[in-house]
Amino acid sequence: MVAELMDGKAVARRIREDVIGRLAALKEKGVTPGLAAVLVGDNPASQIYVNSKAKACEKLGFYSQVIRRSADICESELKGIVTALNDDDRIHGILVQSPLPSHIDELSVTLTINPDKDVDGFHPYNVGMMLINRPTLLPCTPYGIVKMLEHYAIDPAGREVVVVGRSNIVGKPVAVLLLQKAAMANATVTVAHSRTPNLAEVCRRADILIAAMGRARTITADMVKEGAVVVDVGQNRVDDPGSEKGYRLVGDVDFDGVSKRASFITPVPGGVGPMTIAMLMSNTVTATERITAHKV
Ligand code: NDP
Repeated sequence: MVAELMDGKAVARRIREDVIGRLAALKEKGVTPGLAAVLVGDNPASQIYVNSKAKACEKLGFYSQVIRRSADICESELKGIVTALNDDDRIHGILVQSPLPSHIDELSVTLTINPDKDVDGFHPYNVGMMLINRPTLLPCTPYGIVKMLEHYAIDPAGREVVVVGRSNIVGKPVAVLLLQKAAMANATVTVAHSRTPNLAEVCRRADILIAAMGRARTITADMVKEGAVVVDVGQNRVDDPGSEKGYRLVGDVDFDGVSKRASFITPVPGGVGPMTIAMLMSNTVTATERITAHKV
């Protein structure tokens, strides 16, 4: 079997088209969505992420602000920036790029964000609303995975889903979304992690396997059931002296081997990554619609 590629760039384009349609309705009311990103320190990966988010905003005609501060900023100053953004009517979405320096309590900063502007979906209020299946701002990567499955008409209902990874931003929320009593959900979900014995055996149960471990090419063909759908969230830098940057991105899945067994597979890059940014744009429009509706 040769797997069909799930093309994150193409699906992200569809999401952006939907966003553009919703933008027109906001523009009629004289409203432009605004997204602010706060970047602390000079982590190269964080800089790339924030720049690409800002670029996506500009392409769509959003108002975009990037606030950069050095790694020695104190927690109260950072919270002050967030509070000012909460009060800024031009801003409908706020994200504080992680990781933050170790002297800053990330949760405490997240709690400062107005949940209505929490377009990353990380505020515990939004996490709770997601858990009890109420409309809310959903975390972008898990939401993007659901949208990707939907685009390829892969309904998780009644299927065995195995998520490898239990982080608060990917593993746990994607497990929750696919478990819900809802459309594009109703799966039987297993969450595996670094303490899971017999990972290969657990993965082989999966009709839909979601790898979110941050370990390059760890999921190999022998860990995948014939015909499974494989979603690779991992973005790992591996040395590539031949390339311009000296490294390249690979997923958590051994693409060459697994694509011969799976029915569908996401590439890295070009799979889940573009979906994450597209869902951030969609969440920003959702936040704008809700905030402006409250004001009418
Ligand atoms: P974390 O490091 O927070 O979590 C990794 C999880 O994988 C942990 O639960 C860990 O287990 C588990 N894990 C690690 N090694 C193994 C192993 N050998 N066997 C089984 N489980 C293991 O990572 P994130 O969730 O933040 O990110 C995961 C990957 O996804 C990264 O490569 C990241 O760059 C990428 N990512 C991609 C995004 C995109 O847009 N494409 C967005 C966000 C992340 P334990 O809990 O026991 O430590």
